[in-house]
Amino acid sequence: MTQQFRITLLPGDGIGPEIMAIAVDVLQRIGQRFDLQFEFQEALIGGVAIDQAGVPLPDQTLEACRQSDAVLLAAIGGYKWDSLPRQLRPETGLLGLRAGLGLFANLRPATILPQLVDASSLKREVVDGVDIMVVRELTGGVYFGQPKGIFATESGQKRGVNTMAYQASEIDRIGRVGFETAQKRRGKLCSVDKANVLEVSQLWRDRITALAADYPEIELSHLYVDNAAMQLLRWPKQFDTIVTGNLFGDILSDAAAMLTGSIGMLPSASLGEKGPGIFEPVHGSAPDIAGQDKANPLAQVLSAAMMLRYGLDQPAAAEQLEQAVLQVLDQGYRTSDIMSEGMIQVGCQAMGAALLKTLDQEN
Ligand code: NAD
Repeated sequence: MTQQFRITLLPGDGIGPEIMAIAVDVLQRIGQRFDLQFEFQEALIGGVAIDQAGVPLPDQTLEACRQSDAVLLAAIGGYKWDSLPRQLRPETGLLGLRAGLGLFANLRPATILPQLVDASSLKREVVDGVDIMVVRELTGGVYFGQPKGIFATESGQKRGVNTMAYQASEIDRIGRVGFETAQKRRGKLCSVDKANVLEVSQLWRDRITALAADYPEIELSHLYVDNAAMQLLRWPKQFDTIVTGNLFGDILSDAAAMLTGSIGMLPSASLGEKGPGIFEPVHGSAPDIAGQDKANPLAQVLSAAMMLRYGLDQPAAAEQLEQAVLQVLDQGYRTSDIMSEGMIQVGCQAMGAALLKTLDQEN
């Protein structure tokens, strides 16, 4: 029986519309193959929304996203809007969308594709085969804890304050996303904290340990964040899924992503308790190459694959899309950001055409 999904598309700015067009084409092709019907609706966010509607996140956009099964976002931002006041910046629209959808979990994979192993700054034997998922808490911790601010002390000095705080319920809900993500992967979860120094981390460790009883098939380990940073660079293959708080996750997910060496290849997902998640590339709107058919659409396509797996529960379709990406790379196609000697340099559209051809051949 045909399954129907309503998807809100947010192409945004810069290269956004170019890479989104490719993702829509491949999703339609995947849909035919797996009997999935996508109802796409496009909405405004970021700079284009400022230009056309006067605000970076129009109410209609938030409402359209709330009414959908998933949101596929490309990228927002650009020089044109950089000098606007903070509430009118493109980034404010994205933060508002995340908050409006209650997205507390950020999933960022760092997968080394065999074809791009030499793009990493680390040695081949260290990174070959790396396949890590970082699950980061997104709406709590030191970025949001109160009190925060810069205050004057009695002696007249300034004092900057942030508060790292987590409630047990916040730890439990991100912990469950960590365990459930590990279930969909290789069954190993590493929780990262700083429980040797921080009370908030001690609570984190206690709650994650208690949750493990509900997931007996998952192999749970704990690492202090300083050691986790070292281990990521020393022997990243030891990791499957990592779950951690907002600050540690911010840093570790960037470090893990850079193991792969190519920003045009990295997807991400932000998920809430229920309701639609947002699936988007890690990179920005690349205004320096916008409109020149130079953008790499593969991070957007891999974001669509994450949407199929984590947002719509269609793992077979996700797998097919990921395989198609591997195959076009095997065929030697490269956009300029991942180009290397002996390969075939193509633009955004030709990369999309190669993906469609690969998907057709598999039919
Ligand atoms: P960026 O990721 O847009 O670009 C960094 C470099 O990587 C550029 O040289 C760019 O050409 C290249 N690049 C990025 N994506 C690429 C792709 N798919 N294919 C080929 N090359 C690619 O980061 P930036 O230059 O720091 O920021 C540009 C704008 O994007 C800014 O306005 C920033 O605020 C915004 N931004 C948005 C997001 C988002 O939408 N989530 C994230 C980061 C930055």
